[in-house]
Amino acid sequence: MIDLKAGLTSRTHSEIFSRERARVVLYRVRLIAALFAVVTPFWAILDHLTLPPHIALRLGIGRFGVSAAFMTVALLCRCEPRLTRMRSGLFLLFIIPAAFFVYSRMVLSGTRLDYIGAAMASGYTFLPFILTSGIAVFPLTFSESVALAAPILAAALAAPFLLPSQSLLPGIDGIAILWLLVLVSGVAAISAAMQLFLMRELFARSSADALTGALNRKTGEEVIALQVKLAARHRYPLALAFLDIDDFKSINDRFGHAAGDRIIVALSTRLRSGLRASDAIVRWGGEEFVLLFPHASAPQAARRIEALLHGTSIIRPDEKMLTASVGIASDTDHPTDWRALVTLADERMYQAKQLGKNRIIGPAPRPDVGQPAPV
Ligand code: GH3
Ligand code: MG
Ligand code: MG
Repeated sequence: MIDLKAGLTSRTHSEIFSRERARVVLYRVRLIAALFAVVTPFWAILDHLTLPPHIALRLGIGRFGVSAAFMTVALLCRCEPRLTRMRSGLFLLFIIPAAFFVYSRMVLSGTRLDYIGAAMASGYTFLPFILTSGIAVFPLTFSESVALAAPILAAALAAPFLLPSQSLLPGIDGIAILWLLVLVSGVAAISAAMQLFLMRELFARSSADALTGALNRKTGEEVIALQVKLAARHRYPLALAFLDIDDFKSINDRFGHAAGDRIIVALSTRLRSGLRASDAIVRWGGEEFVLLFPHASAPQAARRIEALLHGTSIIRPDEKMLTASVGIASDTDHPTDWRALVTLADERMYQAKQLGKNRIIGPAPRPDVGQPAPV
């Protein structure tokens, strides 16, 4: 199903999806910038063959400037994928040829050209159309497409005012041209939004665990790595819980695998119902889940898990109450990296098992005590 809100703005996108989109877009930006950096100067040969020498020379100088700018973009965008960087890269990719369009209009202004020269020069006139249709190359929200199209439309609108003797396209009314540009931009923006929807759909499918709909281990690891990095960078608390169902094997052995599956799904649904949008639940292994709580301390995470596990009890097929053992680790443990955080939570989960199961073990209340304690 198409989520229209997600197509309008990126605010509803998850952090990990935004990173993935930024990575894909920045890769395309670099590829296109590198391609144009190489192709743009070569076009000067055609200018020299078809246009008066002084015009071809001035366009050639502009072309080398454009080529250098594109090369800078291709090199600059080799960075950590973030939405702000993605937007800056896109803006530069579009604004460079838009500026060249205005420059080319100024150079070609008032020049008498022969038939071939006029045909060649008309290629410069089409630049805004090529640029706006280029928006369709990227998976973008509608607001991002509008932000990209706006300076191109402004350049096209300004060109006849800068050079009153020339219309944008010979013989066609300026308003009609602008209308055509708006239509091309609209179609390109719809195409960009469709790419975005498709990307979201594929991302959701590839990141979800088939049985429970929780994040699968691979995406879960990426989410945890990213959130741990962000929590350290922006100095906010973060807690991670490792949860393992108690005596799960006996359900499988006595009531079959399908009954076991139903319990896994029931627990996952219960846990997911109590999570915030920024939290994450990962199916780590068979009946093991990892829960991530950004902006929460270990005791806060423990209270939320306790409420979820004991608030409305899940009854096993053998009519006992479903219980789980949970280990919690947090930023206060000062883990070296996200793997250390998961390992610590896993170790505490095993301590919970050893202490008799059905309990939550968190970090010691005071670091100097050293011993992990029930939360
Ligand atoms: P403990 O309290 O010590 O955790 O005991 P346990 O019986 O839960 O032991 P353990 O965690 O080692 O058991 C995991 C079992 O989960 C073993 C495996 O057969 C079963 N399992 C793993 N994946 C699935 C699955 O997708 N569906 C079902 N039904 N069972 C699974
Ligand atoms: Mg297990
Ligand atoms: Mg178990």
